[in-house]
Amino acid sequence: MHQMTLAEIARGLADKKFSSEELTKVLLARITQLDPQLNSFISLTEELALEQAKAADVRRANGESGALLGAPIAHKDLFCTQGIRTSCGSKMLDNFKAPYDATVVAKLAAAGAVTLGKTNMDEFAMGSANESSWYGAVKNPWNLEHVPGGSSGGSAAAVAARLLPAATATDTGGSIRQPAAFTNLTGLKPTYGRVSRWGMIAYASSLDQGGPLARTAEDCAILLQGMAGFDQNDSTSIDEPVPDYSASLGDSLQGLRIGVPKEYFSAGLDPRIAELIQNSIKELQKLGAVIKEISLPNMQHAIPAYYVIAPAEASSNLSRFDGVRFGHRCEQPKDLIDLYKRSRGEGFGPEVQRRIMVGAYALSAGYYDAYYLKAQKIRRLVKNDFMAAFNEVDIILGPTTPNPAWKLGAKNSDPVAAYLEDVYTITANLAGLPGLSMPAGFVDGLPVGVQLLAPYFQEGRLLNVAHQYQLNTDWHTRTPTGF
Ligand code: GLN
Repeated sequence: MHQMTLAEIARGLADKKFSSEELTKVLLARITQLDPQLNSFISLTEELALEQAKAADVRRANGESGALLGAPIAHKDLFCTQGIRTSCGSKMLDNFKAPYDATVVAKLAAAGAVTLGKTNMDEFAMGSANESSWYGAVKNPWNLEHVPGGSSGGSAAAVAARLLPAATATDTGGSIRQPAAFTNLTGLKPTYGRVSRWGMIAYASSLDQGGPLARTAEDCAILLQGMAGFDQNDSTSIDEPVPDYSASLGDSLQGLRIGVPKEYFSAGLDPRIAELIQNSIKELQKLGAVIKEISLPNMQHAIPAYYVIAPAEASSNLSRFDGVRFGHRCEQPKDLIDLYKRSRGEGFGPEVQRRIMVGAYALSAGYYDAYYLKAQKIRRLVKNDFMAAFNEVDIILGPTTPNPAWKLGAKNSDPVAAYLEDVYTITANLAGLPGLSMPAGFVDGLPVGVQLLAPYFQEGRLLNVAHQYQLNTDWHTRTPTGF
């Protein structure tokens, strides 16, 4: 039962082959049995799950239908869930029970999805390895000595290990696409503003975007359908109608113009990944796509710009965790300053503290123009590169990551080495564009992802290209041994 995709589950439930309650029990048992190896969950919500599953079964019995009605999922632990711990992977919020549901959580619950639990993540979504979580590192089901990617590593590891069919995740600089690549999943970061950020604990507000992680493009379409849409509670939410994503999955790729940026294949990319990317290009050519070399000349400046903007926004967003209103408070503070200092010093881990310091520095009066303003200018150049490219092509294709998943601990002493691994993903966040990663093969038994980028609001196009590719390849169907 655990091998089923969301689409298969929806058909099985509609055909009354099993109930949501039965399926939920099977998956909860599987999580209890296998998750100790992975550490992909921070909280399990068994009671809520069984309650929601039973309610979904009743709704189906009463004639309701819907692809998510009775479908088991989990939420990355930065989506607020009413009355349930929402930790953001941090000691700071270990004791925080959200007083309300995030819009994404509420929308999926209304569609009948069943919440099995909250998944592990890098602390405050800062990281690319899921090693900065206060709840411990997550392991990659493809090789337990390797990282699953981050920051949505818990969602990725759980779905890859078939503990559940799909999960929510968020992507500020690659945190949906990079763990998707590292664990052989399909993950989609939507256009900025497509999915509400209300109730999604902020890391860098101008970059953060929620999206689906699943095994197939077909399943990402189903989950995104439940997540997307205008929300008046989020001032950056965009009031654009949500298309029927599943309906866009049948389009032919004949004549589709795919741009391949020449900058993507420079030094730093593992040649074995380069070869797999070339194979995926050939596959898409067979399906009728036309390949064109393009250039994204400002790509080299994206990492430095991102690692100024993201920490700057984080330092501001995280100032609310002061020991007064939310989360961890130190014992017996001497005075207010001591309360702030010790609560924050004890509550935040080293990577979060590093980012707050970098961000506060970049925003400080004497350095604002030199760093923050400069970074914003680069951001515009990065966006302009994409706008020029999309005048010529329909999608942009390349690797999701320069290397496969590294060994646990391998980059812990060198944060910059980890930042450099984000080279292919962060440009989409700087520009606000949608991006998808899909399985494209293996290197040393570890999965490799190919990334597709599209113009604003063309999530349907990305999902269709990935779906056509998946109809003709079987990388996405491979299961890690032992799971
Ligand atoms: N690795 C990037 C960072 O650490 C991206 C994280 C994310 O997308 N949340 O900031």
